Amino acid sequence: MSDSDPAIKHEPPEEVFGLLGNRLRVDILRALAGGDTPVVFSTLRGRVEERDSGRFNYHLRKLVGTFVRETDAGYELTLAGLRVVGALVAGTYTADATLSETEIDDPCPECETAPITASYADDVARLACPHCEEWQLAFTFPPGTLDQYATAELPDALDRWLRTLFEQLTAGFCDNCAGRLDSEFATDGDSPQLVWRCDRCGSRSRTAAATPFVFHPAVQGFLYDHGIDPTATSSWRLLSSESIEYDPKESSVGVTYHVGETSIRGQVGADGSVWDIERSDRK
Ligand SMILES: [Zn+2]
Ligand SMILES: [Zn+2]
Repeated sequence: MSDSDPAIKHEPPEEVFGLLGNRLRVDILRALAGGDTPVVFSTLRGRVEERDSGRFNYHLRKLVGTFVRETDAGYELTLAGLRVVGALVAGTYTADATLSETEIDDPCPECETAPITASYADDVARLACPHCEEWQLAFTFPPGTLDQYATAELPDALDRWLRTLFEQLTAGFCDNCAGRLDSEFATDGDSPQLVWRCDRCGSRSRTAAATPFVFHPAVQGFLYDHGIDPTATSSWRLLSSESIEYDPKESSVGVTYHVGETSIRGQVGADGSVWDIERSDRK
């Protein structure tokens, strides 16, 4: 670290997480997440309905400095506190959601024969084609969010979630810990893929190499101009189109998207950057 790096204080994790092993403390964090902050002592105590002021004060003091910030105007969550509450409501540590295989109203992008199915278990959403058994997609989805949607709303919600995941990965942030991502091409499959790696938390994600290209504004505009509304077409359909062609080069992958007689091409770098975009209908 150089002198100009932002100073970050790291507390031992076992001590920090140990602070949460108490129901009242978790209630205090939840109470600080709802409504206006900062919250004064008496209001906060009222929100968690703790009659014993001494006991309340003891547990609140334990949280100050890590999950709770004390200001002149009262108490508020720190970023770490917000994250803990976020993880609690997302159900990351507490919920155990499942969804048995459900047909969704979208034909398989590979064989176009059967509707694809969605299922959910162990925090992973899976989309698959029961007909050709070739096409499938799996990605993590917060369990607590799953039951905020009716089954009919789920395909759209999963699609929007995937788009935000793609955006985050392409921007270079780990979707698990917000750490800095490294990426590289993998060419062991049918088509080249980008592997996004976070060395800080160990998270790994794979997307089609075309992903940064397909979601580039120039390509979205091209598709729109040629009668494909990219916002009304599922991301998995846009990405698994038979009309995408790959041309792996030394340190980049050329991607061409054909629509009828026209096409758009560009280069994708291993860091997800896109350049040399050319449309065949605009010479
Ligand atoms: Zn299929
Ligand atoms: Zn990470």
